[in-house]
Amino acid sequence: MNVQGKVALVTGSTSGIGLGVARALAVAGADIMMNGFGDAAEIEALREGLAKEFSVRVAYDPADLMNPEEVTGIVETTRDTFGSLDILVNNAGVQFVAPIEEFPAVKWDAILALNLSAVFHAMKAAIPGMKANKWGRIINISSAHGLVASPYKVAYVAAKHGVLGATKVAALELANEGITVNAICPGWVLTPLVQQQLHDRAEVSGTDVANETEKLLKEKQPMLKFTSPESVGSMAAYLCSDAAETITGTSISIDGGWVAQ
Ligand code: NAD
Repeated sequence: MNVQGKVALVTGSTSGIGLGVARALAVAGADIMMNGFGDAAEIEALREGLAKEFSVRVAYDPADLMNPEEVTGIVETTRDTFGSLDILVNNAGVQFVAPIEEFPAVKWDAILALNLSAVFHAMKAAIPGMKANKWGRIINISSAHGLVASPYKVAYVAAKHGVLGATKVAALELANEGITVNAICPGWVLTPLVQQQLHDRAEVSGTDVANETEKLLKEKQPMLKFTSPESVGSMAAYLCSDAAETITGTSISIDGGWVAQ
């Protein structure tokens, strides 16, 4: 899996799955534009560490991708910094859990803005440059919740289903442009996004995180095991490889059997 000389923008790569994808693409030789929130010193240490460990160029842009102008801006900054944008990984996402009748409208708007609209804005901004280069890879991180639902996650499930629709449309439009567009649908990955849910569940049930972890896995996954961010990263790197040049418009589950049921 060699993407030497290619430039990858990985949104939400200061943590969790995005960081796993950024690492996997750096291992494969790509220059990386990192993005996401967090402690400035920790992010700088991650940026510097990736660049040194894999001898690639790594930059960081703090764009808030809930804002469409900042989505367009980070695509332009990536091109200005590295000279092109070859691989776009739309990964940044947030979660909020509540029954529909109690779900705050402001949370619906925020989740749709980041988990779905940012995917559209980033693809729109990135596609012209990829077309000009006759090469591109777009990977949208959806979820098992892009394929099936769970209660209390109305905005997240709607957005992740939407991501799969947008992925298919882009794949059709770009089928003969040298650009593939795919989605990855992870099951449970132990990241801060899931750690927060475990913490909230333990508080509500009056038990502890270990107990809720076991329950969480058993509720959804036949395989009682978390997927690692590195595994999602390896799949992203594979989708960027020559071997995957005809894989487009599809969603690839890495979910311990979640959606096989
Ligand atoms: P995470 O919370 O560890 O990471 C989210 C990243 O997005 C962080 O870098 C964060 O700073 C960034 N981010 C948040 N708001 C942002 C904003 N407004 N603008 C720019 N960046 C922002 O979460 P994760 O679990 O690694 O999730 C990454 C993606 O994977 C999400 O799209 C999520 O829906 C999806 N996913 C996660 C799981 C899981 O089990 N963890 C499963 C399926 C899909």
